[in-house]
Amino acid sequence: MPESRYARDSSDIDVRSQLIFTDDTVDALQFVAALLDTVPLASESGADELSEPAQLSRLLAAWKYSGRHDGDARELAEVRAARDRLRALWALDRDAAVDEVNAILAQARALPRLVRHDDEDWHIHATSPEAPLAERILVEAAMAFVDVIRADATERLRTCAADDCEGSFLDLSKNASRLYCSARCGNRVAARAHRARAADAG
Ligand SMILES: [Zn+2]
Ligand SMILES: [Zn+2]
Repeated sequence: MPESRYARDSSDIDVRSQLIFTDDTVDALQFVAALLDTVPLASESGADELSEPAQLSRLLAAWKYSGRHDGDARELAEVRAARDRLRALWALDRDAAVDEVNAILAQARALPRLVRHDDEDWHIHATSPEAPLAERILVEAAMAFVDVIRADATERLRTCAADDCEGSFLDLSKNASRLYCSARCGNRVAARAHRARAADAG
């Protein structure tokens, strides 16, 4: 189970979302968003930030992702394929997401069990730590999606509203009203709107 890279801003999480998702589900979904955001249209560099094994290693380290990590080209290719699959899943509506989540869990023969490791309290794993990384990423994401679907909260899995960004983010705002993946995108869109207004006025 990944931990958040940054301490979550408590003002970002209202009581209702805390009741909707457990911390491990939030962490799993935020890891998925970080994985999805390695594609060129979402990454900070504008390049594919999952194009070599070292980049995958850095992502895993940043999220304290535990378990097997081979660090080879084959694993990278599998994780890239998992990224494609999760990008599609992130955008599905609730009923379509159910089919895909069930397919992932069935293909991996997922077997949920409670585990405690490192400094984390009891949480669910549905694969063994020795299963291939891409399979564990898919299954952990699918388990988090189980919670999202049961809570009827798929609208909180968002894609950035900036037309030049495909950043993915988990919207934990009070009214599920967050538009942008980052302050960077929000500021860029606001600056553009400001320039357009100034040009109209001039
Ligand atoms: Zn874990
Ligand atoms: Zn964005």
